[in-house]
Amino acid sequence: MLVVMKNEATEEQVRRVIHEIENLGYRGIPIPGAERTAVCIIGNRGPIEDSRLLALDGVKEAIRVTKPYKLVSRETHPRPTIIAIGDVKIGGEEPVIMAGPCAVESEDQALTIAHHVKQYGAQVFRGGAFKPRTSPYSFQGLGEKALRILEKVRKETGLLIVTEATDHTNIEVVEQYADIVQIGARNMQNYSLLRRAGHASKPILLKRGLAATIDELLMSAEYIMSEGNAQIILCERGIRTFSDNTRNTLDISAILSIKEVSHLPIVVDPSHASGRREYVIPLSRAAIAVGANGIMVEVHHDPPHALSDGIQSLYPEQFAELMKEIKRIKETSY
Ligand code: PEP
Ligand code: MN
Repeated sequence: MLVVMKNEATEEQVRRVIHEIENLGYRGIPIPGAERTAVCIIGNRGPIEDSRLLALDGVKEAIRVTKPYKLVSRETHPRPTIIAIGDVKIGGEEPVIMAGPCAVESEDQALTIAHHVKQYGAQVFRGGAFKPRTSPYSFQGLGEKALRILEKVRKETGLLIVTEATDHTNIEVVEQYADIVQIGARNMQNYSLLRRAGHASKPILLKRGLAATIDELLMSAEYIMSEGNAQIILCERGIRTFSDNTRNTLDISAILSIKEVSHLPIVVDPSHASGRREYVIPLSRAAIAVGANGIMVEVHHDPPHALSDGIQSLYPEQFAELMKEIKRIKETSY
């Protein structure tokens, strides 16, 4: 349930509503809006008797939230969330471009790619330090050494850094170095990691699980937000289907569905969705055309020698072309 306050309600009145909600045995989370504040009630298993709440000063109305997720729902927060990190705004009109290698392999590699993607207009540099790999024998990432390289990338280029925390043993250090902490597809339902991400001081990029529904993705986001971190960016990165022509199947309609039911920004990763470099630009065009808030794409200056995901990594010139095409789509779409 959502307790909507009157426009002129005071902070003290909001506090009293939260107190009353706690007296009823639930939690009340204030959601400040442009015109008025609402208080979202969580922790209830069924309908709530609202007469005591409606009787409090400053309360306008009580609305039932019909979705199983509350805080990430548009019912609770009708306007889109915009996440601002420095000058970069994620969730607004302009798509945000996150680009870089699958994994940080060396300082030279990361800086070379970072300068390329910066030159062509990326705002965020991606690069794995801790890599979740299917095989234990594959390159697992450089760990903390990679995080120090990423720090250098930010310093030299001004790009923001997004990198993945793969478990509770590394989220703390990732949080120190990253501007955005990534939770990967394989960990979308790692609930203890999600709860920990809910206490992080940085925004979270939450990728859709390999076989997760939209509701499951949003429930995972709810785990993070219910712990206090409202800065969440969702990422559609393809799901597993019977189709085996591509690595995964990009669920393009997921962007529309998520925008309909949630206020959170949603970006698309066409690299892991397709697994094929030559599909990345057309899929990015499609994503932007349906209203994605950004693209997360793998770029490598020497894909044949990349330590992971070379075949889906764009060459820098292709990334330049991608940026041009995104601009063109933005100019023609409405
Ligand atoms: C990644 O983006 O580095 C990654 C491993 O992707 P996913 O979690 O979507 O497989
Ligand atoms: Mn990859």
